[in-house]
Amino acid sequence: MNGPDYIVDIDGIKTPASPQANRGSLSGRPWLAVQWKCCSVYSRIYRNKAGTLYEGKCPRCGKPVSAKVGPGGTSNRFFEAS
Ligand SMILES: [Zn+2]
Repeated sequence: MNGPDYIVDIDGIKTPASPQANRGSLSGRPWLAVQWKCCSVYSRIYRNKAGTLYEGKCPRCGKPVSAKVGPGGTSNRFFEAS
């Protein structure tokens, strides 16, 4: 519960280089609430296994978004993906 938990950057257009097989359980995984401006919808994105990035996709158009985790960022639990 005391790991790095800050968002320092968001990149709404970059696709993950490799499709990660994150097939593990999402329960208990840290997540962020995302307001998707592209489709005016709301969803959650989850932190990856390494704990370095929040990754997710727009539930409607599938647009990927990621948010880095690290010191010096915001601790805001909500952000907007445009
Ligand atoms: Zn969308």
